[in-house]
Amino acid sequence: MQPADGSFFIADGHCDTVHLFVEKDYHFGCRNTKGHLDLCRLREAGVKLQFFALFIEPEYKPYRSLQRALQLAGRFLGEIAKHQEEIMLIKTAKDLEKCLQGPKIAALMALEGGEPLEGGREIVEVFYRLGLRSVGLTWNQRNGLADGVDVGRAAGGLTQAGKSLVRTLNKLGIIVDAAHLAPRSFYDLLEAAENPVFVSHANAKAVCEHPRNLDDEQLLALRKQGGVVGMSFYPGFIAENRAATLEKLLDHFCHVAEVAGVEILALGSDFDGIEVVLPELPDVTHLPVLVEGLERRGFSCAEIQAILGGNILRLIRSNLLQEEIM
Ligand SMILES: [Zn+2]
Repeated sequence: MQPADGSFFIADGHCDTVHLFVEKDYHFGCRNTKGHLDLCRLREAGVKLQFFALFIEPEYKPYRSLQRALQLAGRFLGEIAKHQEEIMLIKTAKDLEKCLQGPKIAALMALEGGEPLEGGREIVEVFYRLGLRSVGLTWNQRNGLADGVDVGRAAGGLTQAGKSLVRTLNKLGIIVDAAHLAPRSFYDLLEAAENPVFVSHANAKAVCEHPRNLDDEQLLALRKQGGVVGMSFYPGFIAENRAATLEKLLDHFCHVAEVAGVEILALGSDFDGIEVVLPELPDVTHLPVLVEGLERRGFSCAEIQAILGGNILRLIRSNLLQEEIM
């Protein structure tokens, strides 16, 4: 899988860049000083596949979340269409294979917060037709589908509607994302899901005690289910007391590999969704320092390839349908 020129296939499981698409001083097709990524910088970094989250801000919830999701989807699809020579929306496993053969970057449309889908199957189908291929049931709070990590100790799991949505998403070949879920929701999801689950951006709780991170038991359960976790570059998930560094981020990779194996590891940068960045990773073009770090920590070439993109590819292939079904 590793290209002959020695570069790696790189896939990133999470960014919030869609929010920048309407800003006057940001142009997705150009190289920007603002934000953490754009088409030029993705290309420079060698990123071949990028998940783009439609993040529904809390102020839109619950009543305007559907409207907000459609606004963001419109914005995202507009930019993809404008730059279709360089980037391609992946809706099927066939699209993915086709894109991998050519020079275009693969884009996956993701939803962070399931409120817009609470209106029922028809709405899910509309989003499916728009190309939505990954869904996080909630963002930290409680909604009609699941409880998020901010609910705290009293948090429950998935509701009946949540479980039913997971079945629908699986049938449509849409990935279900467990990031932001409270522990009981996480385990409920692993049980309800028929396809491998993605935790698009979270780190290891044993290295940094943060409610958004996964403990060892969760990591093992995820591995058993066939899932994948994208390591986030958000300093708050990497170390307590502002002590986050690249080395500390590498500790997370090493810990997850030790506890649950290299096969669950991936990247979930959270670029453009975080206000603070690691000094060593201020934007996507600095990814080579992470690759060097993984080498330094003793990961083999094949393991690094799995972490940088191979595991996400496996996850997508085991979720997306071969052909569009509507
Ligand atoms: Zn998030």
